[in-house]
Amino acid sequence: MSKSLQAIRGMNDILPEQTPLWRYFEGTVARLLDNYGYKQIRMPIVEFTELFKRSIGEVTDIVEKEMYTFEDRNGDSLTLRPEGTAACVRAVLEHGITGGGQVQKLWYIGPMFRHERPQKGRYRQFHQIGLEVFNLDGPDIDAELITMTWRLWGELGIRDAVKLELNSLGTSESRGRYREALVEYLSAHHDKLDEDSQRRLKTNPLRVLDTKNADTQAVLVDAPKMADYLDDESRAHFEGLKSRLDAVGIPYVLNPKLVRGLDYYSKTVFEWVTDRLGAQGTVCAGGRYDGLVEQMGGKPTTGVGFAMGIERLVLMLETLEQIPEEISRQVDVYLCAFGEEAELAGLALAERVRDQLPNLRLQVNAGAGSFKSQFKKADKSGALYALILGDDEMAQQVVGFKPLRGQGEQQSIAWDALAAHLATCVVQG
Ligand code: ATP
Ligand code: MG
Repeated sequence: MSKSLQAIRGMNDILPEQTPLWRYFEGTVARLLDNYGYKQIRMPIVEFTELFKRSIGEVTDIVEKEMYTFEDRNGDSLTLRPEGTAACVRAVLEHGITGGGQVQKLWYIGPMFRHERPQKGRYRQFHQIGLEVFNLDGPDIDAELITMTWRLWGELGIRDAVKLELNSLGTSESRGRYREALVEYLSAHHDKLDEDSQRRLKTNPLRVLDTKNADTQAVLVDAPKMADYLDDESRAHFEGLKSRLDAVGIPYVLNPKLVRGLDYYSKTVFEWVTDRLGAQGTVCAGGRYDGLVEQMGGKPTTGVGFAMGIERLVLMLETLEQIPEEISRQVDVYLCAFGEEAELAGLALAERVRDQLPNLRLQVNAGAGSFKSQFKKADKSGALYALILGDDEMAQQVVGFKPLRGQGEQQSIAWDALAAHLATCVVQG
């Protein structure tokens, strides 16, 4: 027997009943980003594997074990993008749009791919909205990114359920000095570390800081703190960021263990976390990566950005029941016509109305049917009003206008007056 066809584990269909909420979320973010002056960029979903190895870092979780890598027909090693920053940096370099210190404020949206263990809030194909700013190195832009997300949480009605965690990783020099001190301390407690942390101690010691292992966490209590190793420049930058967040009134907690998974961060790192989604609590994460562009072969170009997980944020809206009522209704008006002549007249009438009210969500009954069955469909569509064209209406060149949600009696409206009438009773999106 043939095995039934199924989607790949961890790669989900987003069904018609879910897409209205996705579109509401995506639309809200897009409008906000437009208003702050950010421009959209669209990169391919597949890139040379080398790009991710060089930018994300060979010893990160993503590159070590999460990438979907395959050989192209001509033997090139390609990878489905696990995140957006690398491709975005590649694109701005390739097109020279950050050259000569040009400022770019960019955003992108789309699917990302990581071979992780699928669970609630963690998938193998997931979606991000990400944002990158090039050639602005002050804390003012870091503050703008955070302020923008803060506004977004407010608009979405989830502000009370998220918390901002903040840290500074310093410049690569100060991070280097800190790394040495940390390695020295952890090596002295090597036997008390879990296996993963022992391995990371050799490859990516800062990552030991965000271990989930209780024994290792206990060792970390007395470990050296990054804050004590920050250079003056990074310290001033971090203070500049904090004072701006204070000025806007955005609360934050300092988390010295926040190091982020990727190699390329410097100075500011931050995460918006929630306790409403179980283990997958980070809904948005980012930071500054002043050395990355150079590391990828460009002229020194500072960068800062973040990415938010759409699945997790949509889950938040559902969990907190922050789903605007308008988005569940997708039909304003449903036209029922009985008989062939009425169907033809109805079709022409619907097109005339659409000419005049291009935003009206008007659905014309398809597949004919009895009075009862068409009415049932009209009601099920969620429409506010049904339009009825039967023999009587045809004779008088009117249409029956029937409120479906209990807003009064049925009336007759002349065909010529229909659009004007609808304009008064349907609020158009
Ligand atoms: P985590 O610690 O949860 O694995 P991460 O640090 O790997 O997250 P980033 O690379 O910073 O995540 O991606 C930014 C955001 O994208 C995350 O905060 C999260 O909201 C979302 N995200 C990351 N990986 C996944 C995934 N596998 N499934 C769904 N969303 C994800
Ligand atoms: Mg991860």
